[in-house]
Amino acid sequence: MMTRKTVLIISAALLLFCCTNATTNKETNMKQNDTTVTNNVKKEAGVLHVDKQSKNKQDSAKQIVSTPDKDYLTGRISFSKDSRFVKIDPKHCNGRTVYVRTEVAEAFEDMRKNALKDSIVLFVLSGARTFEQQKNIWERKWKIYQNLEPQARALKILAFSSMPMSSRHHWGTDIDMNSLENSYFEKGKGLKIYQWLTEHALKYGFCQVYNNKNINNRTGYEMEKWHWSYLPISHSLLEQYNNTIQISDFKGFSGCETAEEVKIIDDYVNGINSECK
Ligand SMILES: [Zn+2]
Repeated sequence: MMTRKTVLIISAALLLFCCTNATTNKETNMKQNDTTVTNNVKKEAGVLHVDKQSKNKQDSAKQIVSTPDKDYLTGRISFSKDSRFVKIDPKHCNGRTVYVRTEVAEAFEDMRKNALKDSIVLFVLSGARTFEQQKNIWERKWKIYQNLEPQARALKILAFSSMPMSSRHHWGTDIDMNSLENSYFEKGKGLKIYQWLTEHALKYGFCQVYNNKNINNRTGYEMEKWHWSYLPISHSLLEQYNNTIQISDFKGFSGCETAEEVKIIDDYVNGINSECK
């Protein structure tokens, strides 16, 4: 007959076995999830990369047609729940929460570290923005300019701010760095940062999409020395955008009826630095 002590020892041993087994199963599940996430990112990155490098326009077009994603292109996704997006370390975002595509975070980190070797400190002020976030920015300004006629009102905002649905910030490929004033980048420390970016950013995939408008008669937004786009992904997303989004899709915010008259897609979405195309 078992003593009370023996029963207790056997019970404890059984309990330990069960717990260990449960932990192992949990860890296995987590590892499987991690692998799935990594594979998704690689798959997505691979598709876009192939798309950019493809010289065969027909193949490229097939991929675009087969993967239309209006929600992604117009910021109607949750970055925190989408495995394609990660948060940049808040240390390098002035403590802000900034989401971007995984590849963009990696490229920025690589660029940031190398810039630091030249005593250039880079940090991110803004990355991916949802439709709702862009709508808030737009509608705040829409109220400010309420005395203007609708078209003039939209054009006034469009000097520096995007219409919801048309922002490259929806894509998670574009970042604003260091300052939102062109004048900051025109003297002293800011000038040194801008000169470094102009010389080196492209090596890491980043291009200043809104350059001086007088160069090649660029249309759309005024120059933004702080806004840089990660071309290995954004190049094909622009193609995808042009094949997927139409003026009739612009709905759900104040002044959306002006989208056609201000030529939002032709002049603004496509009004980028020819070096970034
Ligand atoms: Zn920007």
